[in-house]
Amino acid sequence: MCGFALTGVVATTAPDAVEPAHMRPAPVVPAEFEKCPPGMEMRVSDPGGAGPPESGALTPEQADRYHRQLRDALVPLRGQQLEPPHTVPVVVHVISAEDGSGDVSDERIHEQIDVLNTAYSGGYAGVTAQEVGVGETAKRSAGVKAAEENAADTGFRFELAEITRTVDDDWFTGFDQHRDTIRARLRQGGAETLNIYTADLGPGLLGYSTFPQDYKDKPEQDGVVVAHDTLPGGDRDRFNLGHTGTHEIGHWLGLFHTFQNGCTPPGDYVDDTPYEREAASGCPVDRDTCPDEPGKDAVTNFMNYSDDACMTHFTEGQGRRMVEHWAAFRS
Ligand SMILES: [Zn+2]
Repeated sequence: MCGFALTGVVATTAPDAVEPAHMRPAPVVPAEFEKCPPGMEMRVSDPGGAGPPESGALTPEQADRYHRQLRDALVPLRGQQLEPPHTVPVVVHVISAEDGSGDVSDERIHEQIDVLNTAYSGGYAGVTAQEVGVGETAKRSAGVKAAEENAADTGFRFELAEITRTVDDDWFTGFDQHRDTIRARLRQGGAETLNIYTADLGPGLLGYSTFPQDYKDKPEQDGVVVAHDTLPGGDRDRFNLGHTGTHEIGHWLGLFHTFQNGCTPPGDYVDDTPYEREAASGCPVDRDTCPDEPGKDAVTNFMNYSDDACMTHFTEGQGRRMVEHWAAFRS
């Protein structure tokens, strides 16, 4: 069912089902994830090469804690109609170097906003891989088509409110060391305002985001960080169509990776995304890493690690979960 509009999601706060013991041994965490503190998520450019932790950047315990915070926050909203915002105001903070590196143009920022609005309205579903430039290996398949029939119009729309520009060599190349300072100085608006920072994040890191649950304790750090060359028209090979932004904003709205918790319940806490053992890299359509569970991997879902050209949709369940997070933490 394409283009299903999420109008009127009713808060469901049924008592906890007893969850099966889903704790797996702590995954081996490669070095590039270790600098990622709780509450941050990373999208790596070459997850296959580094061997990602089996359940993504969040441990099962961290994901469980976020989920419980969501459920608790929804209790007072029980029975209310939950709806996405009319539009999400977006402030983009461009950090660039004195030699002009990373000085993302206004035009590319507008294109990024257009990409977000198309992605969150379900507009990329059904676009063939060839049309967006993926090679022969990424031909559509019955499995992909079936997944995309569940492509949602999440209801979320984004509107550019302001662009700020800061020229600082240290901030540009050392965003990670300075990020608390940078965000505290530049961030605008309240919980409902999406602040996006662009800088040079170095090799292997495309972006990261805070979760809505983090806002209460650290409002000044709330937001999304993306490598400047991932915006549309950038130089980042395989990741320059703007879907790093799409993906990170999915986290900013509360979504986990489709491979969260691997093949083990509760997975990514979304009913209509199949279980997935590990992140996808490239565009391995028809992959099925949890053969004992229904459905093939959500390779073309925005919350995977696939190439930009491979990503096409959010599901209705993900749309509902984003609306729930919005109502609980950002409205
Ligand atoms: Zn991610």
